Amino acid sequence: MARYTNAACKLCRREGMKLYLKGERCFKDKCAMERRPFPPGQHGQRSRPPIGYAAQLREKEKVKRIYGVLERQFRKYYEIASRKKGVTGEILLAMLERRLDNVVYRLGFASSRRQARQLVNHGHILVNSRKVDIASFQVKEGQEIQVREKSRKNPFIEESVKTAKGRGLPEWLELNPEEFKGVVKAMPKRSDIAMDIQEQLIIELYSK
Ligand code: SF4
Repeated sequence: MARYTNAACKLCRREGMKLYLKGERCFKDKCAMERRPFPPGQHGQRSRPPIGYAAQLREKEKVKRIYGVLERQFRKYYEIASRKKGVTGEILLAMLERRLDNVVYRLGFASSRRQARQLVNHGHILVNSRKVDIASFQVKEGQEIQVREKSRKNPFIEESVKTAKGRGLPEWLELNPEEFKGVVKAMPKRSDIAMDIQEQLIIELYSK
């Protein structure tokens, strides 16, 4: 599967905010955004915030990077969102939040979305007791997301569950850590997504 392979911290520095791409490191002083909060490169410290088209483009790249989605799929999400009733930007973000890899990350079974994607791809995750190995799978209200029983001793999963407590759980999800299980209580709302995202810039870019 195609994915980003650039040094993760450079992506955060490029976008000017923490994208939480490297698990626990992102919550520590070692985080590159704590030490060098400016774009990489020789002139990084002197660069100005983007405006107009550049700002729209940067916002799109930022959201793609947060969720680890490539252009083709991201565009597809936009096209589906734009055909639905409601605010396109909010629907787009809700679709990204409902990706199975994101839900596995939000529930704390993985320390980053990248790791969550690997867990899904390698068959460690069940949805309503059936294996689902498609990271882009859209979860629905009422579904149960669980780590497969024989994967619960996986040291990455054990460690993530221990350390995820401090990250907090969005209101639309419910977690039972003893059973390594989560339930989708409701569909995610815009207010459930705390990251600094200006989705209207993305919509302006795509609707040109
Ligand atoms: Fe981004 Fe900091 Fe995590 Fe690196 S450690 S990926 S800079 S949030």
